[in-house]
Amino acid sequence: MGEFFSPAMSAIINYFKQKKCNYCNENFESNSIKLLKQETKVVVVQITCSFCHHAYGTAVVAMNSEPIPSENVIPIGWSKKDVKRLSKFKAINEDDVLTAHRFIKDLGHDWIKYLPTTNKRKSI
Ligand SMILES: [Zn+2]
Repeated sequence: MGEFFSPAMSAIINYFKQKKCNYCNENFESNSIKLLKQETKVVVVQITCSFCHHAYGTAVVAMNSEPIPSENVIPIGWSKKDVKRLSKFKAINEDDVLTAHRFIKDLGHDWIKYLPTTNKRKSI
């Protein structure tokens, strides 16, 4: 525990943890995968079963480059007016979605009565 793996290495480990050794039928573990070389788009790992110690040799894994996070991504379909009106708000996250879910759930089965009518919604 406490080992740090790069996102690429974590993805490889998670992939192999779902696979079983052909010789002893145990799942591979994080210590079954040894990082030999990591470059921007290629990771080379050595795979050895940590139970029966069967050596599977090396695997060369091609990685897609990781997306570069951007603060100023404008959602598809937003007009200039939408950008001006909405870009001052922070993007919602998973917690916001859960909070909204709980709020709507607590409104009861007839929650739709709280929504404005179609005509009023257009003016928002
Ligand atoms: Zn094995």
